[in-house]
Amino acid sequence: MGSESYYDVLGVPRNATETDIKKAYRNLAKKYHPDVCKEAGAEEKFKSINEAYAVLSDESKRRQYDQLGHENFTNASKGSYGGGPGGAGFNADFSGFGDIFDSFFGGGGRRSGPRQGDDLLMRIQISLEDAVFGAQKEIEVMHTEQCPDCDGTGSSTKKTTTCPKCGGTGQIKQVRNSIFGQMVTAAPCPNCGGRGKIPESVCRKCNGTGRTKVRRKVTVHVPPGIESGMRLRMEGYGEAGDYGASNGDLYIEVRVMPNSRFDREDDNLVTQYEITPAQAALGCEVLIETLDKKKVSLKVPAGISYGTRLRIPGEGVRRRGNFGSLLVRIVIATPKKLSATERELYEQLLAAEGNASKTKDAKEPKSSPGSDAPKDEKKKKRGFFK
Ligand SMILES: [Zn+2]
Ligand SMILES: [Zn+2]
Repeated sequence: MGSESYYDVLGVPRNATETDIKKAYRNLAKKYHPDVCKEAGAEEKFKSINEAYAVLSDESKRRQYDQLGHENFTNASKGSYGGGPGGAGFNADFSGFGDIFDSFFGGGGRRSGPRQGDDLLMRIQISLEDAVFGAQKEIEVMHTEQCPDCDGTGSSTKKTTTCPKCGGTGQIKQVRNSIFGQMVTAAPCPNCGGRGKIPESVCRKCNGTGRTKVRRKVTVHVPPGIESGMRLRMEGYGEAGDYGASNGDLYIEVRVMPNSRFDREDDNLVTQYEITPAQAALGCEVLIETLDKKKVSLKVPAGISYGTRLRIPGEGVRRRGNFGSLLVRIVIATPKKLSATERELYEQLLAAEGNASKTKDAKEPKSSPGSDAPKDEKKKKRGFFK
């Protein structure tokens, strides 16, 4: 597994189509299937092929993988436990991918034998800061784990016996005579729940199920650059599987909370900064606070128009070694209250622009102050150039 990209594992280019990926997977899976290939390391290879295919064959997972990059994507799925009763009975070796294996090799819907644990979905809300810079989030998960008293066997002796009702097949066949002839139906054995085995002596703690419900604190690694709606997969952190089967996965859907000062546009952050009409006309240098509360100086060129976005490179979203920009939208705020000096200067300015004093030409500025600021600016300019 390691750091080889999923595309390299399947030997396909990054722009490979769904069909290409499926084809490459089929060929490799046939070649390295542990029942067929006796080469050293074939099983490992087979696992990585399945892992790569599980991601690249799923449109949303593939998009997420492409966006986050191999390292971030795979790290995100490696959580860790904190607290809880010592983490005992937790199986860290997840083979997983049972479903792909089955559907590919004709197993069909698995009816008997140990069943894989169910997947769980949790939603977490994170701040924009956490989404941009990445974070470690501690969450609480209620899930089932192997019963520690019986090691998941369901039996206090930790031994199971073949189910007498189904003879270990986990299925009960019923033969019925109907007008169409003999019909054979198979149903999961009610005695063993389809497992084919029953506990030798029922474990009291788990009532023979082999599983107990546990509340755990789980640390989630939120990779930098994550977007709202993305799901992180923590392999094996879902519900416990039957004895001998793998656990389900825990999916964590991330919702990024809106920020009062910054919006996100792809890998850029957008913020707004107010300057005065004089600053806009003459140009100025201002200090902009970045998302991580740094002060960065920004030169506003003379004659800037309302709404112009100025770029501060490197202060946007950091993803896969690429740095987005911080875009500062310049808003020209018309002063609502003027000091005596300011009023005098504005009147002089108005006269210099070739406009009559406001007492003579009162209709225009009265119409809608504030919201029409850019229009007024334009009108002033036009007047000036006449
Ligand atoms: Zn049975
Ligand atoms: Zn038990």
